[in-house]
Amino acid sequence: MFETLQDRLGGILDKLRGRGALSEADVSEAMREVRRALLEADVALEVVRTFVDKVKERAVGVEVVKSVTPGQMVVKIVHDTLVETLGSEADPISLAAAAPVPILMVGLQGSGKTTTTAKIARRLATREKRKVLMASLDTRRPAAMEQLATLGRQVEVEVLPIVAGQSAVQIANRAMQAARLGGYDVVMLDTAGRTTVDEALMAEVADVRRATNPHEVLLVADALTGQDAVNTARAFDTALGITGIVLTRVDGDGRGGAALSMRAVTGKPIKLLGTGEKVDALEDFSPQRLAGRILG
Ligand code: GDP
Repeated sequence: MFETLQDRLGGILDKLRGRGALSEADVSEAMREVRRALLEADVALEVVRTFVDKVKERAVGVEVVKSVTPGQMVVKIVHDTLVETLGSEADPISLAAAAPVPILMVGLQGSGKTTTTAKIARRLATREKRKVLMASLDTRRPAAMEQLATLGRQVEVEVLPIVAGQSAVQIANRAMQAARLGGYDVVMLDTAGRTTVDEALMAEVADVRRATNPHEVLLVADALTGQDAVNTARAFDTALGITGIVLTRVDGDGRGGAALSMRAVTGKPIKLLGTGEKVDALEDFSPQRLAGRILG
């Protein structure tokens, strides 16, 4: 078993018990462990650097009090800084716009985008009693359109019928029109994915964004891809301006570093977590819980 960060910091700092304020040298030694813990959790190097500097600045000069050990004090500072970096509060999907509210789902192929579209639709329909319409804009992959239709039946959410030969923008416009006519509250637009970020994909999604003016642009990213997920988030945010991130396959990622990195790099909130293949495996993101997991 790995030692927890708390144990490691304890080993370094607890000999300082009762010795006044934490000095720069004491804290520097401890920061090597913090840095190691974050890198082990797969946090991006650039994020680790900034984070460690911030923790160091806060820890140097802190008075060592009798009731807690110096190790515990630094762990608390690390924890609070993690929570702050992760956004402090849960940030749910916003539907505060005129109905039908368009939500654009973007991301690489295989990230879990279509499954997540259905998971969110199901949640809005069952928990919030919204009338939801889903549409697949993946004109190049008929299988993706079929997949959304199948998921729609499974979660009992309406899916826009497929019309051959339409462009992504045409399908999106048709979805919005059908939603207006049908009195829908929310339209979930599942855009095409590619295996890499490419210009053609970005241009197509940007066209859909302009045509529909979505209230949320949610990037779906696979937590297991670690550093790649961070680069993907940066690319999508730069090209499209995302409003939030849904991190999938969190069930297989014990480390949680991708979330911290993506949030720090894009400044956009993690809104939800995909925690399994089933349609109900969707959780609200909690900065507190993730901070606890990163600390181990
Ligand atoms: P897309 O190509 O981005 O639309 O990806 P899909 O929605 O087709 O998902 C690809 C695979 O990942 C499917 O087998 C999903 O069941 C699976 N998947 C999606 N989200 C999760 C998740 O949160 N956890 C796990 N374990 N599998 C997931």
